[in-house]
Amino acid sequence: MKKAIETAINKQIGEELYSAYLYLAMAFYLESKKLMGSGKWMRKQAQEEVNHAMKFAHFLEERGGRPVLEAIAAPKKDFGTLLQVFEESLKHEQHITSCIHSLYELAGKEKDLPFQSFLKWFIDEQVEEEAAAQEVIDKIELIGDKNGAHLYMIDKYLGKRGEEK
Ligand code: MG
Repeated sequence: MKKAIETAINKQIGEELYSAYLYLAMAFYLESKKLMGSGKWMRKQAQEEVNHAMKFAHFLEERGGRPVLEAIAAPKKDFGTLLQVFEESLKHEQHITSCIHSLYELAGKEKDLPFQSFLKWFIDEQVEEEAAAQEVIDKIELIGDKNGAHLYMIDKYLGKRGEEK
């Protein structure tokens, strides 16, 4: 495996772990506002991000590379309204999508077919991630988050993530 690929994968491991950190910060923020269902949704999201980092680390080790961890920036601690939290998470996922697409382009440039093949799962996953955040934004916009009863309904719905299927 080429050095440029190893470096780029390590950078992506940092991006995925930062995502986990960001979503945990959102979870703790929401829980401080007593939005326990929304906090649970974000905790699950954070866990998924750790899994993404592990997938990249595993792939790197399989190819004879070595995962190297770097400092993770501290996320902010206040995030505004519930709608703003999910708008920010959508924006972050769009950033991650562009990182994944850049990795795919690098894999093509370096003619690293196994890496390209590996990245296909992430390309599809990013479509899911953006759709999941957009779906919550649409629901909040539909129901509204200004009124306590509406907020309670949305929070209850978000707490059911992973149970509806
Ligand atoms: Mg991710």
